[in-house]
Amino acid sequence: MTQHFLLTSAARTLPLASVMRMSDEEAERVFVRLRWADNDGNAYCPHCGCTIVYSCRRPSGAPRWRCKACRKDFSVTSGTLFAFHKLPLRSYLLAIAIFCNEVKGKSMLAMSRDLGVQYKTSFVLAHKMREAMASELRGVNIGGEGRKAEIDGAYFGGYVKPANRIENRRDRRLRMNQSGKRKVVVVIRERDGKTLPGVFASEVAALNFIRTRIARGTTVYADEAGAWNELHGRFTMHRINHQEAYSLEGDIYTNNAESFFSRMRRAEIGHQYERHPGRSGCGAGDAQQAECRFLRILAAELGRVGS
Ligand SMILES: [Zn+2]
Repeated sequence: MTQHFLLTSAARTLPLASVMRMSDEEAERVFVRLRWADNDGNAYCPHCGCTIVYSCRRPSGAPRWRCKACRKDFSVTSGTLFAFHKLPLRSYLLAIAIFCNEVKGKSMLAMSRDLGVQYKTSFVLAHKMREAMASELRGVNIGGEGRKAEIDGAYFGGYVKPANRIENRRDRRLRMNQSGKRKVVVVIRERDGKTLPGVFASEVAALNFIRTRIARGTTVYADEAGAWNELHGRFTMHRINHQEAYSLEGDIYTNNAESFFSRMRRAEIGHQYERHPGRSGCGAGDAQQAECRFLRILAAELGRVGS
């Protein structure tokens, strides 16, 4: 039997302990190396792109650079999500390590206790990290000739709490008693490849996403849900009826997609049970939009973190 990914050394590449052992200078060097990786770790101007820059460290010791061409000053986080940061750079590395190593999501209340910051600070920080991960998925396509991909959908959000007294309770299966906020997360998982999630009103609404993001020639595996029938014209499809079996000969299963939702469901139940629609502190609009946005970034987060 193959070893579970989380038991392998590949899952331990970002230990919290090594970040804690770093000095402030080392944390700064890590940021510089990552920020300007496309220039061999050498700073260049985020305003005009000029590569001739001078170190212009502040009397407090804070690292700054000055551009020769446009004379503007910049820091290691200028022009990034972490611009105008208030916490020490090491705290951001700690946050990234904690966030990435929690495979079933991380409660931001717990993060605020870990870092010794306010809840609002850790909440906004987590959203920034999620935004960064979501932006990496833009324009990503899955599969290709001879490749295999699994698709599946699962419903999240829009929970309606039952009333206290039994005589006041309503049948929550009826559309009129639902909140209208329930969304379906559809995931495309390539076997031994990338994961690409999206958030939609229904599985049918996700068909276009699937058609455009899975390359032609990919063999697609899906469950018995009727929405996927439309895809037979475009891809070689294998279907599995989960009421009959979870796996059939010839590698016919959607277990990778199912395991994605298993993790996501645990994140929803374990950490994300309290939502803050419209109060996320990062420009979300009305409640429904915020919920959709929340799901999108949660899905992206899990898609990136994978196992
Ligand atoms: Zn410049």
